[in-house]
Amino acid sequence: MSKKSSLNDPRGLYPTPPFPDQPQPAPGLARKMNPTPDHGEQSYRGSGKLTGRKALITGGDSGIGRAAAIAFAREGADVAIAYLPDEEADAEEVIRLVEEEGRKAIGLPGDIKEESWCRALVERAVSELGGLDILLVNAGRQQYREKIEELSTDDFDKTMKTNLYALHWIAQAAVPHMPVGSSVITTASIQAYQPSPILLDYATTKAGIVAYTKALAKQLIERGIRANVVAPGPVWTALQPSGGQPDEKVKNFGKDSDFGRPGQPVELAPVFVLLASQEASFINGEVYGVTGGKGVA
Ligand code: NAD
Ligand code: MG
Repeated sequence: MSKKSSLNDPRGLYPTPPFPDQPQPAPGLARKMNPTPDHGEQSYRGSGKLTGRKALITGGDSGIGRAAAIAFAREGADVAIAYLPDEEADAEEVIRLVEEEGRKAIGLPGDIKEESWCRALVERAVSELGGLDILLVNAGRQQYREKIEELSTDDFDKTMKTNLYALHWIAQAAVPHMPVGSSVITTASIQAYQPSPILLDYATTKAGIVAYTKALAKQLIERGIRANVVAPGPVWTALQPSGGQPDEKVKNFGKDSDFGRPGQPVELAPVFVLLASQEASFINGEVYGVTGGKGVA
């Protein structure tokens, strides 16, 4: 019986810190994490909410994007995932899981810091899926720097390119392909509202993602397309032990949430499914917080 099939205290549903020390190089692999993140592999159950839909998810190999990929497939969608070539091992697991649902899975390895790749990956997704009606722009770069002097121009540039420019390039390439009723979703962060001192560049991009998506939502509704933001709090993903946070913070990750633990990627999946589906037909330009109680204000 799944943990979710009976009523449980949400604080105790998933692992609590302290966690083992586990630094890994960026971009980090979900398969190397201890404890293993829950992306819904065993637990997520679909109910046909996205039957016949065609989704592109950036950063769909691991973490929050993987949870969305599994959920979208179990809800009946075909899924293309974009990721870095170093993440092929994680991506192959997702492709297998999507195919096990009888859905089409497309792998798109490449670096979204390159405009030409952003445009090419959208074209490949559209041609291999036979269309596109869900766009989840979720890939992100987070590398902490303790002091302003340590945040180099190169760092700043990479974070802006990955988190903001790629959003624009991918959305710009995708929107002309998206029919009436489609949904665009972006992944921001609680960092847009409560920025950490060690994440100057990252927090700036996350605030930018919120503003960009709200503005885009007002444009796209004129075409019958909705756009919304999900703003997660601490979630147990490879982003954190691969330079996203100091090792000490990773050990105690999520301890200061109201739940005394980080969220697991699967705990965000229902929000992505809702926003992607027609059930969200009056939801546009909104920010959905899944922060563990910190709020998005
Ligand atoms: P993750 O590391 O599993 O996913 C991030 C993905 O971004 C990577 O898997 C990678 O495929 C992709 N990516 C990064 N740089 C790329 C590049 N140059 N080219 C192509 N792909 C690239 O971590 P996650 O936590 O699931 O992150 C997903 C989103 O959630 C990110 O936007 C992140 O900022 C956001 N977020 C995470 C947390 C958290 O605590 N984990 C909190 C708030 C927001
Ligand atoms: Mg990854």
